[in-house]
Amino acid sequence: MKESGIVFLMYHELEVPARPTVHSSPGYVRYVLRASEFGNQMTWLSRHGWRGMSVSEALAFPPHDGVAVTFDDGCETDLLVAAPILKEMSFAGTFYITSGFLGHPGHLSGGQLRELAQLGFEIGCHSMTHAYLTGLDNAGLHREIVDAKSELERILGQPVVHFSCPGGRYDRRSLEVAQRAGYRTVATSRIRANTKSTSLLQLGRVALRRETSSQAFWAICRGRGLWQLRARDRLRGSLRRVLGNTAYDHLREAWLS
Ligand SMILES: [Zn+2]
Repeated sequence: MKESGIVFLMYHELEVPARPTVHSSPGYVRYVLRASEFGNQMTWLSRHGWRGMSVSEALAFPPHDGVAVTFDDGCETDLLVAAPILKEMSFAGTFYITSGFLGHPGHLSGGQLRELAQLGFEIGCHSMTHAYLTGLDNAGLHREIVDAKSELERILGQPVVHFSCPGGRYDRRSLEVAQRAGYRTVATSRIRANTKSTSLLQLGRVALRRETSSQAFWAICRGRGLWQLRARDRLRGSLRRVLGNTAYDHLREAWLS
């Protein structure tokens, strides 16, 4: 089944040989793609006449085929690995930055963030400390949504109007705070393509996983079989709730090895 609309791809850190990833837990690494795999995916899109777009560009719903290319967390590989590959294809993209991680090992520095913006990439905010937004008190929401935005704007000297939710978690309160703070869009991890009628405060995205095959990648870009991914995601969610995060990760690790 195909969903019309534009698919927003969600990437994280990329793996480069001889460079340790920021975390090594299975729950983290499963979203870390090898740099070569990311390169293959972008090349594939380019060869098929598709365009990689930023969030703003995608939301203008241009007539050509394309996907939005987004990165979460603000890892250093955004600039070192993803940016050159996107540039080579003349693709755009949006990088959601966790403000409080700037300058931490494996993450962008303030200077590198400016460089990324100067290359023409769109910069969004991914909270201050990567706290899940659900369950935060007002001060916490203010820090993660409002202060995180001001911090990025101070570094960049330009407005930041796109937000993505850590762990994909959000609720009505967090969306209200984001809207009041002046964000134009909020991206979630809801697995769906975005259309002109999708709420800008609940944009869907599809996370790319380390084990995503090239066939699965191509299907995702075309919005095919997203309902299957949603079903799988729901199953994982219930398993995690039943087992707890740690036991679930151990189980996943056993399956993967
Ligand atoms: Zn994140």
